[in-house]
Amino acid sequence: MDETEIQSITNMTLSDLEALCISMGEPVYRAKQMLFWIYDKGATAFGQMSNLSKNFQKQIAGQYQVFQTKVSTITQTAYGTEKYLIHLPDENVIECVLLREGKKITACVSTQVGCAMACQFCASGLLGMERDLTTSEIVEQALHIKSHLLPEERLTNIVFMGIGEPLMNYDNVIRAVRIMNAEWGLGIGARHITISTVGVIDGIRRLAHEGLQVNLAISLHAPNDIIRSEIIPSNKKTGIKNLVATAREYFEITRRDISFEYLLIEGVNASKHDAESLTRLLKGLQCNINVLPVNPVEEFHRRPPSQETIETFCSTLEKHGLVVTLRKKKGSHINAACGQLRLQRENISGRKLYGKAKNILLNTWVIL
Ligand code: SF4
Repeated sequence: MDETEIQSITNMTLSDLEALCISMGEPVYRAKQMLFWIYDKGATAFGQMSNLSKNFQKQIAGQYQVFQTKVSTITQTAYGTEKYLIHLPDENVIECVLLREGKKITACVSTQVGCAMACQFCASGLLGMERDLTTSEIVEQALHIKSHLLPEERLTNIVFMGIGEPLMNYDNVIRAVRIMNAEWGLGIGARHITISTVGVIDGIRRLAHEGLQVNLAISLHAPNDIIRSEIIPSNKKTGIKNLVATAREYFEITRRDISFEYLLIEGVNASKHDAESLTRLLKGLQCNINVLPVNPVEEFHRRPPSQETIETFCSTLEKHGLVVTLRKKKGSHINAACGQLRLQRENISGRKLYGKAKNILLNTWVIL
């Protein structure tokens, strides 16, 4: 935990804040009052917390802040999807996305500035990794989205599918999950929180023992090592069989179904033969497969297959008893394919694609 993070209340758990209140000579119940202001009432400054004494407001504001981040831009789409650009204290910029599906309101949050994994279909990995996000910077993405909802709406789901590999920023992600899940925090049920990974073996193993009922989604995207290592470089080290074996271990420990995400890319991983190989790989594992045609990203020249190819792929999996869901591309109307908003913004400002602003990126495949 760095010095910057310690100064933000959105990094704190109830017991952290209780300890702080006691150390500042305040009754312990002040902690719950403050958390209620932040997570239920949307307060962004101590001065808005009207049941705190003016003296305490001044004292705590001298040492801590409520929020570290600010919303810079919100881009909307006809489907009700909204893309938020968030400014971080060190001038980096990240993205998060609000998705609406009837009463299901989901915040898709980022976990790193940039990404080191360099997947060959994702703009988030284009420029490499800058740093991990702090717990506050993760939690505040959901809070910003919550504060912009319509009065009749309620934030119901969180997916860790934005910029970055969540399990490479393990401690901050798990702390953020606990704050999002807590009754005194955002109050989102663990079963409505999904952590998506490209396959960090140690992280999956640690997660299995956290006692959290969150959903695990593994970005598989291929039926064998040859294809997977081509589009996900980290697979060369991990190996697809090792990854699926770890998924089996995870299920044995948690008894929670796993979702496998599978982006269909024309000419790469979308043939009937690929579907048959995939059924052999996942044989006997209780799981769901979320299939999504790839979003075109200019830099990679990856294209989605034809409708006929998509249907053949899905029906082949189903014939072998796998549970398949074909997802829609919800982000395309706001250029939510990875990095496209970043590229537009760079063009507008005339800045180069380097420096602090380079990390306005998002892996928004919108797999929900
Ligand atoms: S798909 Fe995920 S892990 Fe891969 S480069 Fe993009 S953000 Fe990183």
